[in-house]
Amino acid sequence: LDLDTLRWTGVKERTFIAVKPDGVQRKRVGEIVQRFEKKGFKLVGFKLLKASKDLLREHYWEHRNRPFYNRLVTYMSSGPVVAMVWQGQDVVKTGRDMMGKTNPIDSMPGTFRGDFCVEMGRNVIHGSDSVESAQREISLWFKESELCDREVCSNNWIYD
Ligand code: GDP
Ligand code: MG
Repeated sequence: LDLDTLRWTGVKERTFIAVKPDGVQRKRVGEIVQRFEKKGFKLVGFKLLKASKDLLREHYWEHRNRPFYNRLVTYMSSGPVVAMVWQGQDVVKTGRDMMGKTNPIDSMPGTFRGDFCVEMGRNVIHGSDSVESAQREISLWFKESELCDREVCSNNWIYD
């Protein structure tokens, strides 16, 4: 853990969530944002963009030798995505739980992938898999100046 990661622990933990091109086309942005808001997480970064293949190749660098890598980059660059940063206690793990498993067939109803899609190659949403990945992905997709932390009046009703 370096200093930057320590800065992002407890209620300051952050994760990178993206609504993938299929999720944007199928109009799931509102519901995905709504469920993170309802849960109690804080939106600190949000933008709609068509990601370049270079950005996506770097984002999915860990999969560069997998057979699906090129198809994945093509899919992710096929239309705009909504890139978001959400903040709150245990938001990385909770975000993963809210998403469901990589393959929608393994995803429980009530999760985004369980409710919104049927195939791994069109699975609607991305979420960081660890605090370290979140840190890497957030700095890849956002400038520091695009992130807006702030006090929210509901804090005392969300945290003990
Ligand atoms: P995630 O963290 O749950 O999104 O899953 P991974 O990091 O393992 O994979 C990244 C993305 O690549 C997934 O969300 C899928 O869209 C895609 N993907 C992963 N495995 C496969 C696969 O075996 N086949 C295909 N077509 N796509 C895959
Ligand atoms: Mg992943």
